[in-house]
Amino acid sequence: MKSAIGIDIGGTNIKAVLVSGSGDILKRVMEPTPTERGGSQEKIRNALMKILRAIVNDRVIGIGFGIAGVIDREKGLVLESPNIPEINGFRVKDTFEKEFSLPVVVDNDANTYAYGEKWIGVGKDIDNFALLTLGTGLGGGIIYKGEVFDGPAEIGHMVIEPRGRVCTCGSYGCLESYASGRAVMDMAISALEKGAKSMLTECCDGNFYKITPELVYKTALEGDNLSRDIFRETGQYLGIGIGNLINIFNLDAVVFGGGLIGAWDLFIEDVKKEFLKRSFKSLSSGIKILKSVLKEDGGSIGAAGLVLKISGQGLSDKGSSQPSA
Ligand SMILES: [Zn+2]
Repeated sequence: MKSAIGIDIGGTNIKAVLVSGSGDILKRVMEPTPTERGGSQEKIRNALMKILRAIVNDRVIGIGFGIAGVIDREKGLVLESPNIPEINGFRVKDTFEKEFSLPVVVDNDANTYAYGEKWIGVGKDIDNFALLTLGTGLGGGIIYKGEVFDGPAEIGHMVIEPRGRVCTCGSYGCLESYASGRAVMDMAISALEKGAKSMLTECCDGNFYKITPELVYKTALEGDNLSRDIFRETGQYLGIGIGNLINIFNLDAVVFGGGLIGAWDLFIEDVKKEFLKRSFKSLSSGIKILKSVLKEDGGSIGAAGLVLKISGQGLSDKGSSQPSA
C-alpha cells in the first residue's frame, strides 16, 4: 500500500510520521527544532533533510508539512511564523519537491491537525468544526463543509480584550493571551506579584517565575482557589472566543487538543456556559465539545493525510477505498 510522510514543525520539536493510506503510523521520528541560539533557516532545512532521508522509501507518494504560522498554500511558502521566525520566507514546497522528486503539500499545523481529526479522528462524521490546540499558545484550524477552510484561521489572535495583554503577534488582548499554557502562567505570576494567597507560593522555592501550567493544574486539584480560578477564567475566555466562531461558522462541534486538555474538568463547564451566553441559541444548541483523539500526532498525521487525499490514495471518510479527492 502507498504511504505518505507528514511533518509537523513546531517551536519546540519537529515531528515526522510515515503513514499508510488508512492512517496507520508506520514510523515516527522526533527531533528538537533547531531554533535555540544560532538557529537559522539553513539549520532547520538540514534537520528536515536528515529526518526525511531517514524515513522516505519508494512507496512514499508525497510529503505533507504542517507549520506553525501563516502559510501561502499555493506556493508552499511560510509567510510569517511568530514562534519560529527563522522560517519566515522558507520556500518549503520548492525545496523538498526538488530534493525528493515528490509532491509536497504545506499548510498551517492546526489546519493539518484539524484535517487529521476529520480524516481518521473524532471529526470523521462532522462537516463543520473548529479545532483548538491548547498548548503553550493557542492554535486553530477549521473544517468547513467537510474541507479544510482555506484561510489562516488564527483563532488564537482573535481580539478578546481591547486594552488587554501584549501578544507575541504584536497586537493586544488576543485570545491566546488569555487561554493558553502561557496565559495560565502569566495569570498565576501576576496574581502572586500582587500578593495573592496560594499554594503556588510554596512551590518553586518561592520563585514565581518558575511556575508551569502543570503546577497550576496540580495545585488546582489540591483545592487551591487561585489555581482553580485561573482555569475557570481560561474557560470563560475560551467560551467567548468559541461563541464568536459559532456565530460566524455555524459549527457542529469544537475539538480541543494540546497539553492543557489534561485540565479539561477544571475549565470545560465555564467554556460551555460562556459560549451559550455569547452566541445565537439556534446556532449553539446541540453543539458538541470533544477531545482530540490523535493528540500530539494530529498535525503530522493530518499533513500526510492531505497528501494522500490530493493524490486520491487515502481512504474516504466512510472507510471505503475510493479516492476522496
Ligand atoms: Zn496575537
